Amino acid sequence: MNFLESVVVQCPYCGEPMELDIDCAAGRQEYTEDCPVCCKPVTVSVTLKEDGRPQVEVRPEDA
Ligand SMILES: [Zn+2]
Repeated sequence: MNFLESVVVQCPYCGEPMELDIDCAAGRQEYTEDCPVCCKPVTVSVTLKEDGRPQVEVRPEDA
């Protein structure tokens, strides 16, 4: 089975879309990922919805 879910979010710095591979098997998680366009650190916050699909929020690392 594949628990990886591709989610496209918008970079909070430059507004460009960035694609994230979310590991749904890991459940709730928060990590930092550099934007591929502007290279700034983006905090990615993942929660799982009732249907098991990820709800992803991004914010600037220093916010
Ligand atoms: Zn960016």
